[in-house]
Amino acid sequence: MLFVVRADVDGQAVGQASHRIEQGGKGALGLRPGRLNLITGTIDDLPGGQFDTLRPQLWLDWSMLVMIDLDNTLADRQRAVADWADEFCRRHDQETRTVEWIIDLDNDGYSNRRDVFATINEQLGLRTSVNGLVANYRRRVVELTEPTAGAIDFLQALHQNGHKVAIVTNGSSQSQHAKIDALGLRDLVDAIVVSGDLGIEKPDAKMFEAAARATGAPLTNAWMIGDSPHHDIYGADLLGVQTAWLRRGRQWTESEYYPTVQVDSLRQLLPDLGI
Ligand SMILES: [Mg+2]
Repeated sequence: MLFVVRADVDGQAVGQASHRIEQGGKGALGLRPGRLNLITGTIDDLPGGQFDTLRPQLWLDWSMLVMIDLDNTLADRQRAVADWADEFCRRHDQETRTVEWIIDLDNDGYSNRRDVFATINEQLGLRTSVNGLVANYRRRVVELTEPTAGAIDFLQALHQNGHKVAIVTNGSSQSQHAKIDALGLRDLVDAIVVSGDLGIEKPDAKMFEAAARATGAPLTNAWMIGDSPHHDIYGADLLGVQTAWLRRGRQWTESEYYPTVQVDSLRQLLPDLGI
């Protein structure tokens, strides 16, 4: 939220008001007497009664909805799966090349977990339960997952600039919420939309509409950021939402639809979001 406040009182009075806010509020607003003051924040940043004291003349709701994918966008799933595959192969005395084979089987998480582990079990001649392998995999990958480079700073910058932020992710309720908590992302966003909670998946429009509803921000002028052309870009594009595709070293190959921008990191995207 961006407040545009004209300090419509004489310099001394505004100085007093500003002083009171600095002492009683959550932080120094630094109002300058007799000037237009731009304040980024929410109404909660202004302590009770002080907002009236300032007599704001103009108050713009400048907030924009920014929806962000979790896996391989905010959370470095690729690295976590590679580390897990390495551990797994060491434990089962497998060669290094088997690590690459398992990572390919995983297919960025889009393969069916049980099918993947049934294949691994069979090909490697392991005499273990598929259920147990899947459970261990799920737990260990969450433990090994770290934020992608700059993800925390990116979310903080979005909030500081008054944008509404929603994580919109496909996956099971248990693993996605566990990952979000492990990475400390829950308090950095306004809403979390997990496909497992709703029984629908991106690119279904209902996923993005749920984010808009949960944040109270419209899809007009909204953004969707993600690494999957089909799930993140295609679905949001159908709704007229601006889209940012994280390349992750890949080339765009779709010809029916295109992202608004292509970036190699979240940080690169800040200017497009007015930051
Ligand atoms: Mg993803």
